[in-house]
Amino acid sequence: MSYENFKIETDSDGIAVVTWDMPGKSMNVIDLSVMEEWEKIIDELVADDAVKGVVLASGKKTFGAGADLSMLQQMLGEYKQKFSEDNEAATQLLFDNAYRLNQLLRKQETSGKPFVAAINGQALGGCLEMCLACHARVMADDAKVALPEVKVGLFPGGGGTQRTPRLMHTQEALQFLLKGGNMHPGKAKANGLVTEVVPEGELVSKAKELINNGLKGVQPWDERGFRLPGNKVYSPAGFQLFPPANAIYRRETQDNYPGARAIMKCVYEGLLVPFDTALKIESRYFAQVLRSTEASMMIRTLFMSMQELNKGARRPKGIEKNEIGKIGVLGAGLMGAGIAYVSAKAGIDVILIDRDQEAADKGKAHSESLEDKAISKKRSTAEKKEEILSRITPTDDYSKLSDVDMVIEAVFEDSNVKKIVTEQAEAHMPEGAVFASNTSTIPISDLAKFSKRPEQFVGIHFFSPVNMMMLVEVIKGGKTGDKAIAMALDYIARIKKTPIVVNDTRGFFVNRCVLRYMSEAYNMLSEGVPPAMIENLAKQAGMPLGPLQLNDETAIDLSHKILHQTIRDLGEDAVEKRHIELVDAMVEKHGRLGKKNGKGFYDYPEKPAKKHLWPGLKEMYPQQKADEIDRQEIIDRFHATIAVEAARCVEENVVVDVREADVGSILGFGFAPFTGGAISYIDGMGTKAFVELLAKLEKKYGEQFKANDLLIEMAKNDEKFYDRFSPTGEPQKEAA
Ligand code: NAD
Repeated sequence: MSYENFKIETDSDGIAVVTWDMPGKSMNVIDLSVMEEWEKIIDELVADDAVKGVVLASGKKTFGAGADLSMLQQMLGEYKQKFSEDNEAATQLLFDNAYRLNQLLRKQETSGKPFVAAINGQALGGCLEMCLACHARVMADDAKVALPEVKVGLFPGGGGTQRTPRLMHTQEALQFLLKGGNMHPGKAKANGLVTEVVPEGELVSKAKELINNGLKGVQPWDERGFRLPGNKVYSPAGFQLFPPANAIYRRETQDNYPGARAIMKCVYEGLLVPFDTALKIESRYFAQVLRSTEASMMIRTLFMSMQELNKGARRPKGIEKNEIGKIGVLGAGLMGAGIAYVSAKAGIDVILIDRDQEAADKGKAHSESLEDKAISKKRSTAEKKEEILSRITPTDDYSKLSDVDMVIEAVFEDSNVKKIVTEQAEAHMPEGAVFASNTSTIPISDLAKFSKRPEQFVGIHFFSPVNMMMLVEVIKGGKTGDKAIAMALDYIARIKKTPIVVNDTRGFFVNRCVLRYMSEAYNMLSEGVPPAMIENLAKQAGMPLGPLQLNDETAIDLSHKILHQTIRDLGEDAVEKRHIELVDAMVEKHGRLGKKNGKGFYDYPEKPAKKHLWPGLKEMYPQQKADEIDRQEIIDRFHATIAVEAARCVEENVVVDVREADVGSILGFGFAPFTGGAISYIDGMGTKAFVELLAKLEKKYGEQFKANDLLIEMAKNDEKFYDRFSPTGEPQKEAA
């Protein structure tokens, strides 16, 4: 028989090599057609007496990317449609659909013939689960495997939660499942997740060799006397494992992620029962998690929207792609040095300019130290380091900008300095080159006035540390043209970061929201909420850093500068009196500038002592009794103050695409990822409920919670942002 997605070649030894190569797709994914065909292939090969074993290989550069998320979307759609008519039948249907892959893979591993997976490139999610249901796995020495479903709010539902803890130690399996990160060949072999590691060219021959050497077509867990690598749940080893594992799970997730919770349950419960029952347990939880708001929102933002933005969803149409060969970076300080590094790493030549040669050299040295660290962690090599460094030319000579495609300015946050360097650079840059500023606070339209070519002037706002932060905000000034936006987006794609394009406003999008987060913490301090509660409840709200710690990292004297600058620009009423009093006291009275001088909201003693909240903070305000504080309300305040600011940004047209508000809030400052982002948080509870929450908070805590007109109007019909501002012009589905 012939198949659309697979080719079968059987050799003279009776080994069938099934090559998975989906037409018209760059990567293999598991969809309904693949499942149907794979089942037929299993039937065909098992029935064929001439076939003694099967090798499953990929015809693509990489083994496979996982289950097709649109298939899950379809499953959820069918469920929702049926739910209003017959709730029980709808739930059964969702379970049956979720269970289908488990049944298929179970059929594969109990067919009696040996199956071996040949893993090249990457085997992710469902595709790795297909390999785990083989009786052996041969992995290329440069390949990677991962079960990353937890990162989009799901969990591996094709037997991954059951086969991993039966192949490797439960502790390792839990970490692999809960972190969702890559496992490299050495570790995969040591853990028992793969059988052999060989160069890619030898994958199929090694797989055949295993079959020819008598590999059994039976999984270890189907053999009598099978022992779990991490021992039984009810055993001394299990007793030592699960209670701390549960504590770590709580610490890492704050129990905010149904997908992660299901992993804990599946592994614990699944290891207590026979394998077939365990798979049913997994499918039940999968159907449950798939219905959760968290999974819907996370799939949409962290998979769909991110992919769309990375592929240029906001790139102006009709402009040819820019091949960026060389850029100039002005200012070799913290940001400039980081920008030079990520650019050189992406193969772009960089002219790194500072006031003198010494300062420029210092900026280049940053790349050297980052590469040295990478080499020590085996993430880079001496050759790669040399190549990166050879691309960076440190200098104080602006004439070297004569053949750049773009200049990114990252000098001091001072309009006068920025004016001087803009003029100096434009005197040498080619006519068509784009000038980008990395300013964090000065409106791009104001800076564009210093340029001879304001239509070629754009904001490219990086976040610190540049090499770690995945988001870049592109700012469109009043006169910025499409070509400049296209150049900025092509550059960001080249350095493999995720862009959002926003319109010009004070603080742009990300910092506007972050400032709300920190200022709500100032309010809480002044109300006498104990500082430890502020920090801990922010983490329970799903934020990666408490607001006080974040403020220490960004520097309290910077907040001091921003607040005083705002007063100078907009008058005394533009900032809250209690905020300026707090920041003045911290900086001027106590000399507490943040982490940089070892004294901020936290004290930073010499290592190995750990940082701790500054005891003096409690003395600044009379303290409330912790037990009398409504914890959920503190959590709501953090979410709501950011979300309403995001809604204002949508109303003011700062953000024109709601996907960007969601992706930007998660990648820019870690806004509770389980919500799907600041706008999905509102859609998740409904605009009506959100406006009610705001009204309650406004009454108690002030007008930072005042709903804007847009929200009030939307709440009347409980309208969703993704319907009203649909990025595709059609009502957006919540799940992928
Ligand atoms: P920095 O003080 O570390 O670096 C600024 C560099 O500019 C210094 O090396 C300085 O010598 C150089 N410089 C000053 N005048 C110059 C001139 N005339 N010609 C050439 N070089 C000159 O500052 P930074 O933190 O890297 O910030 C740079 C810019 O990036 C600012 O606009 C800032 O607002 C913005 N930014 C900073 C962050 C952050 O977290 N630090 C984040 C986003 C954006």
